[in-house]
Amino acid sequence: MENNASGTLYVVATPIGNLNDITPRALETLRNVQGVAAEDTRHTRALLTHFGIEQNLVALHQHNEEASAAQVVAKLLAGESWALVSDAGTPLMSDPGYRVVKAAQDNNIKVSPIPGACAAIAALSVAGLATDRFSFEGFLPAKNKARRDRLSQLVSETGTLVFYESAHRIEESLEDMVNVFGASRRASIARELTKLFETVKTATLAELLEFVQADPNQRKGEFVVMIEGAGDDADAVLREGERVYAVLKEHLPPSTAAKVAAELTGAPRKSLYGQ
Ligand code: SAM
Repeated sequence: MENNASGTLYVVATPIGNLNDITPRALETLRNVQGVAAEDTRHTRALLTHFGIEQNLVALHQHNEEASAAQVVAKLLAGESWALVSDAGTPLMSDPGYRVVKAAQDNNIKVSPIPGACAAIAALSVAGLATDRFSFEGFLPAKNKARRDRLSQLVSETGTLVFYESAHRIEESLEDMVNVFGASRRASIARELTKLFETVKTATLAELLEFVQADPNQRKGEFVVMIEGAGDDADAVLREGERVYAVLKEHLPPSTAAKVAAELTGAPRKSLYGQ
């Protein structure tokens, strides 16, 4: 049962680039609460100042989330209402906030969303890939082997895969995606959404890698990368067979590699051997 004597924790989405994407409800909430827990208080102070809002800000980030959450929950229990914001988009979506939301719930405090921008959803809405089922994968691991291992675990997922990626890793991540998912898997990159250099491109993974490698400007900014899910049709089986064959061929005689790849994937051996 919710504790009626306590205040409400509002989880407020802020823009992912274009400041006009803030909603009237977000502004009203940020104006009326007793305090705002923010990922970076300087960043949020600038946003609030832009909209003429003065607020009491408390830092709540990766490194102090537990202690800060306890502080905010104490205020909520005392009857104050607070907002939680991150630097951009929806809090908790690859951003801090999970601990304070959970702590509020554990104390029967009402938690209410003030929805708005989220890069993953904005990207999916323009990618031209299936959106009936998708899996939000957040950021891939930074280390090469861990990244490839994570991608390999996802190769047979049938829903669209959604990743966040930064400028300094976009090229190597796309390289790994080509190697793991195959050059011909359809995918999309959404860069700098709602900003000046917004770019959305949907093509095969190999074409996207080429596009990003050919133009240094296409490696700048913030990215959402989406990969079409694995089909269960014969083409997808063949592509997976080709991928496994290519790896095995490095270690085994081609005929053995083709036999094992065919057994593992169900692809016809004859279509693999000799490639
Ligand atoms: N909470 C945010 C949300 O709701 O989307 C995401 C925060 S996460 C720390 C930042 C990542 O989101 C970036 O590295 C990028 O992958 C993605 N992102 C944020 N803004 C973006 C934009 N305008 N265009 C494309 N991707 C963006």
